[in-house]
Amino acid sequence: MIEIRDVHKSFGQHEVLKGVSLHVGAGEVAVVLGPSGSGKSTLLRSVNHLEKVDRGQIRVDGELIGYRRRGDKLHELKERDVLKQRSAIGFVFQNFNLFPHLTVVDNIAEAPVATGRLSRESARAKALALLDRVGLAEKASSYPRQLSGGQQQRVAIARALALDPKVVLFDEPTSALDPELVGEVLDVMKDLARSGTTMIVVTHEIGFAREVADTVVFMDDGVVLEQGPPAEVLDHPSHERTRSFLSKVL
Ligand code: ATP
Ligand code: MG
Repeated sequence: MIEIRDVHKSFGQHEVLKGVSLHVGAGEVAVVLGPSGSGKSTLLRSVNHLEKVDRGQIRVDGELIGYRRRGDKLHELKERDVLKQRSAIGFVFQNFNLFPHLTVVDNIAEAPVATGRLSRESARAKALALLDRVGLAEKASSYPRQLSGGQQQRVAIARALALDPKVVLFDEPTSALDPELVGEVLDVMKDLARSGTTMIVVTHEIGFAREVADTVVFMDDGVVLEQGPPAEVLDHPSHERTRSFLSKVL
């Protein structure tokens, strides 16, 4: 479902991704770990073309992201086509990024209405169903500032699902939360994982990785240093760098 092949990305002279490859099959969950600055966010952002890769390619459900091939040349897609691709890729950020001036239900209904996929009425009905799924049906008319961080992040997850994405990407979804609110967000993510959502999750929640990841990926300095099933990478890492990182987060 997600095919990342030999992706390179530099900011100026600084090569941040140095040939990253990763395959995530349909319905699978990949958890990405690694020290600060190793390129985790840049990799996720590349998957929905928030960052343009310099080399290599990314496909989601077979579709080349950000570019179109003509002959043996790649041409960057028009903004409209990039937005269309992005609508198939849900993204959940560390800081929720909800629209502060919209109620919870309208935060979720916004994209289906703006893209012309649903009438406002149908979008609201769908938003309510999604809110129910994340356990927040009673907060439909609240504004984001009236919710706890954990509740806001659950709304952000519901919003990421509003366009029926093929994949959902999470960038440290619980790291801005007070510790007692982390569990409720992880529970929603576990539920999504169990229902067959294809996900890439950047997180240092090792328990979550153990429980739901099909693959754990350890990134270091712009490369995938190792990847494999959780029991392998978490319990028997083959690199000293992975061991030392895990000893700090466990
Ligand atoms: P963290 O765990 O702190 O979130 P990360 O693994 O997500 O780290 P990235 O955010 O991908 O790391 O950043 C990788 C490197 O790229 C860092 O050195 C960062 O400073 C640099 N970088 C990221 N975005 C930009 C940008 N827009 N312009 C310049 N440098 C950038
Ligand atoms: Mg990051």
